[in-house]
Amino acid sequence: MPDTDALWADFSRPIATAEDYLTSLRGRTMAVYFMGERVAEPIDHPVIFPSINAMAETYRLASERPELGGVHAPIADVRTNRFLHVPTGPADLVAKHEMQRELGRRTGTCFQRCVGLDAIGACHSVTFDIDADKRTDYHRRFLAFLKRAQAANIVIGGAMTDPKGDRSKAPHQQDDPDLFLRIVKRDATGIWISGAKMHQTGAVNSHWLVVMPTMRMTEADKDWSFVGALRVDSPGLTYVVGRQTNDTRAVDGGALDAGNAQFAGQEAMIVFDEVFIPHEHVFMNGEWQYAATLVERFTTYHRSSYVCKTGLGDVLIGAAAEAASHNGVENVSHIKDKLVEMTHLNETIYSSCMAAAYRSKPMASGAYLNDEMLSNVAKHNVTRFPFEIARLAQDIAGGLVVTMPSERDLQNNEIGPLIRKFLQGKSGVDTVDRMRVLRLIENMTIGRNAVGYLTESLHGAGSPQAQRIQIARGMDVEGKKARARKLAGVEERGRPAR
Ligand code: SF4
Repeated sequence: MPDTDALWADFSRPIATAEDYLTSLRGRTMAVYFMGERVAEPIDHPVIFPSINAMAETYRLASERPELGGVHAPIADVRTNRFLHVPTGPADLVAKHEMQRELGRRTGTCFQRCVGLDAIGACHSVTFDIDADKRTDYHRRFLAFLKRAQAANIVIGGAMTDPKGDRSKAPHQQDDPDLFLRIVKRDATGIWISGAKMHQTGAVNSHWLVVMPTMRMTEADKDWSFVGALRVDSPGLTYVVGRQTNDTRAVDGGALDAGNAQFAGQEAMIVFDEVFIPHEHVFMNGEWQYAATLVERFTTYHRSSYVCKTGLGDVLIGAAAEAASHNGVENVSHIKDKLVEMTHLNETIYSSCMAAAYRSKPMASGAYLNDEMLSNVAKHNVTRFPFEIARLAQDIAGGLVVTMPSERDLQNNEIGPLIRKFLQGKSGVDTVDRMRVLRLIENMTIGRNAVGYLTESLHGAGSPQAQRIQIARGMDVEGKKARARKLAGVEERGRPAR
C-alpha cells in the first residue's frame, strides 16, 4: 500500500491565519496556465491574487469572529474552520449560511470555499450509506481523511462538473470517454483517473480536491462512478484559469478602474492525465447506484450555499444607495422604492436559504441536510433576483457606470482637472469617491465580479432547469388536488367529502 502519510507531510502544522494560508500556497509545483502562459507562482500573479485574497478572507473571518468562521469539529476533536465541519444539526447549517452571507459582504465576490464544504457534507452520508449496503470501507476512509484535513485546517476544493460532450449521451456512450472524468486503471494500491473537470471554483487556491461524479450513472458507467481526494499538486494535473470580464484591469495600474481591486473569484479547467489516488483516499469506486444520491445531496447543500449572494446583494444595494446620495437624490421617492425592491429580493433569497437550514433533517450517518424543496426554491430565486437587483443598481447609478473616463485620464495633468470638475456630484462629495462607487457597481454588474454575482448565480450548483426538475419531483400535485377537492366538496370514492 502507498504511504498516505507522505501526502500529509507538509500539513503537519495547522494553518492558523490568513498569512499562514498565503504562505502555504508558495513553492508548490503545479502546472497552472493563464492567458497562454505557465504561471510559476499563482499568488504573485496580479490577476490571480485577488481570488486568493478572497479565499484568505475565510481565514481572516475565523480569526476575527471565531464564533462564526470557526467551530469545534467533533470528528478530529479540534477547533477548525467552519468550512471543514460536517453539520450535525440545524444550528450548524444556520451558522454556515450566516458565515457565507458575511463573507459575501466582506469580499463582494465568490470566496470559493463552499464547494469543498458541501462535498464533505454529501460524502459523509453517502459513504455511510454505501458501506451499510455493500459492506465497503468508505466511511472510515472518509473520516480519516477529514480528520487530517480538519487538524491541518486546509482548503478542500470540490470538483464535480465534467465537460459532458454530447449531452444526449451517457459517459460510456461518448465518442471520447475522457469527456467525463474516469478510472483508467485500478490495482491493489489505488486508482488512476483521466479526463477533466470544468468551471472548478477556487481550484488553484485549494490544497486538496474531492472529485465526484456529476450526474446519475448506469451500470455501464461504473468507471465514471467514483469519489476520491487528491492533492492539487498531484502529478498529472494541469489547470487553465478562466479569464473574467475586465480581469486585466488588475494590471492596468492603479486600483480605481478595477472597481474591487482586493477580491475576485476563480474558476479553472482541470485536466487529469492518469492521476493516481491511493485506495485510502477513494470513497466510492464503481458503486454507480449512489452517484445520483451523491449529486442530489451535494446540490441540496450547495443550492442553499448560494445565500452567499445575499452578502453581495448587501454590497450592491449599499453601492446604489451611495451613488444616489452622491447625486443628491437619496430622498427621492422612486429611488427609495427601488432600494426597497432590491432589499425585498435580496431578503427573499436569504429567507428561503435560512428556511432550508432550519428545516434540515438528519441522514443515517448523523449529518444534517438542508430541506430539499426549500433549497431548490432558494437557488431558483438566485437564478433570477440578482439580475433584477443589478438592473436596479444600474438604473439608480446612471449611464456613467459605462461611460466614465479611466483612472489614467484622471491622473493626466490636462484632462484630470476637467474630469474632477464635470464628474462632481452634490456639494461635499469627492469626485474620485463618486467614481470609485460607480466602478464597484460596474464591477458587480458587468465587470469581473458579475461572473460571481450574475452568471454563476444562473449556472452554479445547477442551471435553472435542474432546480425545476427537483421542484417538480417534490411538489406533490396529487396531494394538493386532494385538498382542493375536499374543500370544494368534490365527492371522493362516491361519498361526499366532509
Ligand atoms: Fe460559495 Fe457562493 Fe462561491 Fe459557490 S458561488 S463557492 S456558494 S461563495
